[in-house]
This record gives sequence, structure tokens and C-alpha cells, in this order.
Amino acid sequence: MARPTHQTSTTSGTASGPGDTAEIQRLVEDLDGMLSRLRLGAIRERLDALLEEASRRQLNLREALAWLCAAEVASKEQRRLSMAMTIARFPFVRTLEGFEFEAQPSIDPGKIRDLATCRWVANGDNVVLLGPPGVGKTHLEVALGREAVARGYTVQFTTAMELLGSLLKAQQQGMLEARLAQYAKPKLLIIDELGYLPLEPQAGHLFFQLISRRYEQGSVLISSNRSVEEWDEVFGDQVVAAAILDRLMHHSQVVTIRGDSYRLREKRRSGLFRPRAGGPSLAGVGGVPPPTPAKEA
Ligand code: ADP
Ligand code: MG
Repeated sequence: MARPTHQTSTTSGTASGPGDTAEIQRLVEDLDGMLSRLRLGAIRERLDALLEEASRRQLNLREALAWLCAAEVASKEQRRLSMAMTIARFPFVRTLEGFEFEAQPSIDPGKIRDLATCRWVANGDNVVLLGPPGVGKTHLEVALGREAVARGYTVQFTTAMELLGSLLKAQQQGMLEARLAQYAKPKLLIIDELGYLPLEPQAGHLFFQLISRRYEQGSVLISSNRSVEEWDEVFGDQVVAAAILDRLMHHSQVVTIRGDSYRLREKRRSGLFRPRAGGPSLAGVGGVPPPTPAKEA
């Protein structure tokens, strides 16, 4: 390997003679090639700036190496996170910081913060979120799902309709096994909106097969606007509903949200819907971009 002859941290190599300049050029190219080969893209792309910064901070060689590695690790982690978020297919971005607990007093913030540690995901337990429309079920699912992604778990978000439609289609095409295996893969499967729309007669059996497949292997986070007593009706079959609940509830936590729709509350506050006395007092949804109407659940 070419030995560095220059003392500066930059690659410009100014005051040297023509021979030195050629050698520095070769060194720069060699280094560039090695960084590519080692897939150290962040160091490679920002090498001059990183070296300059290391020199400005008067880091010794070991410190400078650690500083370069930290930049690479941070960049790789950022890439992993962004890819895992894409794979999870969340319908929008929602975070726990953006959840106004004061607006939903029936939710125990301590319980949600405990869920955010994702111990239940590590254990393969389930969480069932129950409550009427607009109370923040999907918001919490996305926020908890993002926490799980951040902790390195594989996550997939889907709706009950999408999931069952996909299983049904796979069954018709003789590909049910493969599709079940696909949905069994992520460590956390989030199933949104069970009970909003009537299900096909076979849906209960397919759902049972999926829940059995995931039982004690991977976690399910499921939300429904119907109480579990009404799941007989949701699945149109008492026996199947009981079998699903038996497995789903075995290692599970249930969070029941009672209260007003946040959407209607927002409308009330903006004066579009039955104005209330008192005026605006609470801050907006901190830390979260304003909801995009087109993406609303
Ligand atoms: P659900 O799934 O229960 O029907 P959503 O989670 O879709 O309700 O909530 C509707 C909208 O209101 C979403 O944009 C969500 O981010 C917002 N929202 C609901 N509850 C809260 C809350 N407590 N704090 C902040 N935003 C909320
Ligand atoms: Mg929802």
C-alpha cells in the first residue's frame, strides 16, 4: 500500500513537487477504492470533510479512526431504519411524542410507554387495541410499530381487509401456504381496523390459520372498533371466533380506549363542528407533521 507522505488532513496536497502530487493522487484513488470495497460509503463520500473536522478537533489517530467509524455506523443505521420503515408499509408517520394523552384520558400513558419499550414484541406477546373510530388506535399502532422498527424488529402494517383479501386470493390460487408464511415472518404484524367492514364467510378460518401460525412465535398488534364479545359477529362464526380469541388473548395486553373522536374534537376546535366554550388551550400535535387529509384512516 502507498505510504502517505503528506501531513495535512486534506487531499489537496498543495506545496509538494510534481512527484509528490502524483503519489498523493494515487493514494487518494487507492483509498477511495478500498473504502468502496469495504462498503464504507459514508466515510468515502465525506472523507475530506471528516478528516478536516478530525484535524480541527486535534484528534489523535485512534480518536480519528473512532470518529470515522462512528460516522459510518450512524449512516448505516439511518439507512437500515429508513428501509425497515418502508418495508413496514405504515400508512403515515405518527409518533408517541405526537400523541396528546390529555385528549384521551382513558389511556394510561404509563402503559403505552411500557409498550413502547417493546418487551412484549421480544416475548412474542400480542396487544389488542379496542375503541370507537377516531380515538387514536391507528396512531398508536404506527407509533408503537415505529418503536419496534427502531429497536431492530421486523414489522409489517396491514389492515384486516387487506390481509384477509390477500389470504383469500392466495387460497383461490392455491398459494395459501406461501402467503401464510409471508405474514408469519415479521416479528410484529400490525392488523388495523378489524370489524369495520363485513368479512367473507371463509375469512374467519383464514384468520384463525394466520393467528395459529404466529402463536407464540411473533407478536400481533390488532385494533378493532368492536369489543371482543362482538367478534363472533365480526367473523360470523362463534367457534372460529372463540378459537382466534383463545390464541390471540393467551399472552396479550388489551388497551381499551373510551372517549371522543380526536378528529371531531379537532373540528370542534376549529369551529367547523358544534363549538365548545373555553377556546383552544392545548398545543397542537407536537413533533408530528400536520395530518394529510388524503392519508387519513
Ligand atoms: P382510529 O384509528 O382510532 O380511528 P386514528 O388513530 O386514525 O383513530 O386518529 C385519527 C386522527 O387523529 C389521526 O390523524 C391521529 O393522528 C389523530 N389523533 C387521534 N388521537 C390523537 C391524540 N390523542 N393525540 C394526537 N393525535 C391524535
Ligand atoms: Mg384507525
